[in-house]
Amino acid sequence: MGGRADQSCTEEVMMSEFQSWRRIGRYIDQRPGLKRFLDRILCPLERISKGAVFDCRMCGQCVLHSTGMVCPMTCPKKLRNGPCGGVRLDGKCEVLPKVQCVWVTAYARSQRLFWPHEIHDLRPPVDWSLRGTSSWVNALTGRDQIASGCVAEPHSALQVLNRNGHSA
Ligand code: SF4
Repeated sequence: MGGRADQSCTEEVMMSEFQSWRRIGRYIDQRPGLKRFLDRILCPLERISKGAVFDCRMCGQCVLHSTGMVCPMTCPKKLRNGPCGGVRLDGKCEVLPKVQCVWVTAYARSQRLFWPHEIHDLRPPVDWSLRGTSSWVNALTGRDQIASGCVAEPHSALQVLNRNGHSA
């Protein structure tokens, strides 16, 4: 009983925080000058910090959270959902045979995180118009949420399996 009350209280706090961030995002989004200014100061910070840690390629729509904290843009094919059909039996890349497949690494690392199921999320294709902009600003303003043809279900590869009577 207490547990459920705690959970709904936590959810309420999270929702109100989310709405506050959304309000800030909308405020920024309606001011192109402010958005450009934030992009200008945050882009170098993001490039340096995430470049050093994740080899970030500044796609402007970060999905690290759902890819085991492995940047999918380091895949030679730039796949947002992988691996492709060409991954070798030893887990190496089809294009770069000496290199471990980015998606093999992403899957392994995702299973060590607290949200292992997110690797199965179906991520929309890259919106190349956001390339070189700050994914932090884009997440705040919702610019990275622009519909790209993947808004309808299924949202996860697991949903596809379950629907077809297979279990993961
Ligand atoms: S997904 Fe995009 S923003 Fe995130 S680390 Fe990779 S290139 Fe950078």
